[in-house]
Amino acid sequence: MNVKNSAEEIKNNIKIVCAKTGRDPSEITIIAVTKYVSVERAKEAAAAGITALGENRAEGLLEKYEALGSEAQWHFIGSLQTRKVKEIIDKVTYIHSVDRLSLAREISKRAAKPIKCFVQVNTSGEESKSGLQPDETVSFIESLQEYEHIEVAGLMTMAPLTDDEEVLRNCFSSLRKLRDAVNALQLKHAPCTELSMGMSNDYKIAVEEGATFVRIGSALVGNSNGGG
Ligand SMILES: *Cc1c(COP(=O)(O)O)cnc(C)c1O
Repeated sequence: MNVKNSAEEIKNNIKIVCAKTGRDPSEITIIAVTKYVSVERAKEAAAAGITALGENRAEGLLEKYEALGSEAQWHFIGSLQTRKVKEIIDKVTYIHSVDRLSLAREISKRAAKPIKCFVQVNTSGEESKSGLQPDETVSFIESLQEYEHIEVAGLMTMAPLTDDEEVLRNCFSSLRKLRDAVNALQLKHAPCTELSMGMSNDYKIAVEEGATFVRIGSALVGNSNGGG
């Protein structure tokens, strides 16, 4: 697959959705999720202008970081083991998967400056998905106040693997409503303006529902070194 072409196609799709919903495409950052692919593919994404890169394992992030460094902006998107925090903390700009206080404490302790974090919410109710329950989210975010290097940039969710548009839309719109509720509290440590939602299969619906970061792997860089 040609990363430049898929990047153009995705950008164009986002433009179309934005025109339809009255949004400005510049509000939306495409994160190239490079977890399945080689360093070369990650470089192709950066060369195609997609400089926000996402990895879900510390090892993967470190490998790509070594090759690209500050050419890219680094997003940690997967479940993060507390003991791995110190390996990635000085490399990432965003962590999309804060889902427990012990993790927040470790991030805050290891970081030299505030880290933009997303609180992960389980909007689908699936047991296999990580993240806070929606009704626990506000009090969780309030309790993050004591960690001086945590800045709650927004909320993140993963929708279920389904083609049922209504199910997907419900997940995304419930995350947006929750974001609005947290944002309205005007907490100093939690501006909570961003929504990290939408992947290869569902990013158009996510953008319709207000996504400001979409995390796209297979449709952008492929899902193996050979293509996909
Ligand atoms: C793998 C992954 C993605 C990208 O998945 P695709 O379906 O390949 O676009 C997005 N978000 C998270 C958290 C992931 O682990």
